[in-house]
Amino acid sequence: MGKANRSEEWGIGKANRSEEWAKGKARLAHLGVIVRRLDAAEPFYARLGLSPAPRVSLDREHVRMTFIRVADAEIELLEPAAQEGPLSRFLATRGEGIHHIAIEVDDIERALALATASGMRAIDQVPRPGAHGTRVAFLHPGQAHGVLLELVERPRHPPREEPST
Ligand code: ZN
Repeated sequence: MGKANRSEEWGIGKANRSEEWAKGKARLAHLGVIVRRLDAAEPFYARLGLSPAPRVSLDREHVRMTFIRVADAEIELLEPAAQEGPLSRFLATRGEGIHHIAIEVDDIERALALATASGMRAIDQVPRPGAHGTRVAFLHPGQAHGVLLELVERPRHPPREEPST
């Protein structure tokens, strides 16, 4: 399937490292899309026959979100829930649109270590909690050909339900 080639295209760095990174089950997890209002964006996708899952709030990140499954991957709709924070700043300066690409990895600490060892700058030195019990870490777009990359590791144990307040 040419996994190693694909990871080289991600610009992760030296071939041997990117090969190592792709050895596990690295796959496209989701595209993160910032929208002004979920109330407006969800019906748009529903009209295309794509149904949004129940919403989740990450209060610490000042964001409300929903996931829309498209085959093996998802579209993550992000609505900034406060005037503060990087998502709200992104919306204010760039408007609605694609914000990041998320890649699922088996071992996020290992993927982070490989990425930084190959010269990428991590926004998160240690993974932070994401939606649905995942752990996530972002890599700076400066060394990723202009793309904000998110690494995602799914919970190894069944996730606890998060309060969606
Ligand atoms: Zn994401």
